[in-house]
Amino acid sequence: MKNSKDFDVIVVGAGNAALCSAISAHNEGAKVLILEKAPRERRSGNCCFAGGGMAFWHKGLPEIVELLPQLTKDEIDCMIVPENTADGWYNKIMEVTEERADPNLAEVLVSQSNPTVRWLREQGLEFEPHIIGSTVREGNKLRWKPQHTVINAKGGGKGLSDSLFAIADGKGIETRYLTKAVQILCNSGGRVHGVKVKDKEGFRDITSKAVVLACGGFESNREWRARYLGPGWDLVRPRGTCFNTGDGLRMALEIGAQPAGHWSGRHATAIDYWQSRVPEGQDVGGIDDKRDMYHLCIQVNTNGQRFVDEGADFKTFIYAKYGAYLLEQPLGMAWQIFDAKVAPLLTEGYPNGTPITADTIQELAEKISVPALPRTIAEFNASVKENVPLNFAIRDGRGTVGITPPKSNWAQKIDTPPFLAYGVGCGISYTFGGLKINTQAQVIDGEGEVIPGLYTTGEMLGGIWYKTYTGGGGIALGAVFGRIAGANAAGE
Ligand SMILES: Cc1cc2nc3c(=O)[nH]c(=O)nc-3n(C[C@H](O)[C@H](O)[C@H](O)COP(=O)(O)OP(=O)(O)OC[C@H]3O[C@@H](n4cnc5c(N)ncnc54)[C@H](O)[C@@H]3O)c2cc1C
Repeated sequence: MKNSKDFDVIVVGAGNAALCSAISAHNEGAKVLILEKAPRERRSGNCCFAGGGMAFWHKGLPEIVELLPQLTKDEIDCMIVPENTADGWYNKIMEVTEERADPNLAEVLVSQSNPTVRWLREQGLEFEPHIIGSTVREGNKLRWKPQHTVINAKGGGKGLSDSLFAIADGKGIETRYLTKAVQILCNSGGRVHGVKVKDKEGFRDITSKAVVLACGGFESNREWRARYLGPGWDLVRPRGTCFNTGDGLRMALEIGAQPAGHWSGRHATAIDYWQSRVPEGQDVGGIDDKRDMYHLCIQVNTNGQRFVDEGADFKTFIYAKYGAYLLEQPLGMAWQIFDAKVAPLLTEGYPNGTPITADTIQELAEKISVPALPRTIAEFNASVKENVPLNFAIRDGRGTVGITPPKSNWAQKIDTPPFLAYGVGCGISYTFGGLKINTQAQVIDGEGEVIPGLYTTGEMLGGIWYKTYTGGGGIALGAVFGRIAGANAAGE
């Protein structure tokens, strides 16, 4: 084993945020050690479960083409990609977080997103077009919806992890698996100088000049979910890794770090109901179980009542908060009702599911034991503003009149058999409560001072996401602040 005093930077965690930190620190000349609690075959946390879409500001198609050199001319000719301005994304973050996002951190996230994507490309990461969920067909072309994710890490979240590991391994960065950080080591002056870990041989101290905490939130800690997210959240199924149990948050709070952000907030969406009941600890399908095409359906609870505006905004800006509404329903479930008109548009996780189908609404109601369904659908159908043209590429204003809650956009009568019902429950992706940092990714203590030698990024960073997030923002956040944290930690 190496002399542990030789490490300049210890990175705790091995997901997207950690790997970006490690690569960045190494590039600045630091000797870096990555600590991963999981075994090698389950490494990389939620990164591996993610779709891999990454948000960033860009100037539209010409810039996207630069990042996707593999595209053929025919493929490029089929793409319509509107620009995504930095101001536009910043304003959207402020809108969805109800103006609570830390403006300084949000500004860094947005402004650095484009240079960080380019940096990742320079490191060797390859991207592919992010099509499903982001595009609508326009003749023989694909149009990207405004402010939607345009690029994906090649191979999705798993591809992102594999590629970042290949880059880190290629640089000779050491990773220790089955090695859990349990405590942050500080000297008498309060400077962080390493971590205590637990591995198969027991507890040991590993020292370093700086530590980057990138070991995720507490979504997989049943007790903390109940404690911070509230009653009932202990029963909710994590959609991703079971290793993110809040260890880094606990360790940092123990040495006086300041909590920041939305500690009762979380990214949670509709997933297959039966998968939402699988006992914790077993792997579920990640994005394969996702059921979030709200704009194409109505959702009813077991009493047959609608309870949310399924067309409030593009799903990329609402899906991460819509899981919580399911938890409030009887049995914590709902049925998403579609008709044959929209069935061909069901992508992402839906093709993996088996809907209950029927030729009449009455028959469907009987099959799913929701007697009030025909009345709810009749009221919904009567309320649709059919004189407004349907257009999935914009918030089309084709809503409902006179029903509560409304469906504000993309409302269509449910009138074409066969009818489909998908049972959905809540799945939690990650938590929003984190640590206070400055724009250099340094962790701040309860008195507003920097904790020397301590940095954080990714899910552990508090202060940007409140209520919900903007699609592709999780990976962007980890990469942007990971790059910053790694470079600054190396400077220690
Ligand atoms: C199903 C799903 C789909 C998603 N899709 C997208 C998407 O398409 N785009 C997007 O932007 N975001 C997406 N997200 C969110 C995204 O995955 C996360 O925001 C991102 O992975 C967080 O990165 P991270 O590095 O902070 O955490 P993680 O990737 O979860 O990594 C945390 C790491 O810390 C390790 N660890 C935990 N505790 C310790 C410890 N004590 N010691 C050592 N190591 C420890 C874990 O094993 C893991 O390696 C998705 C999430 C899920 C669950």
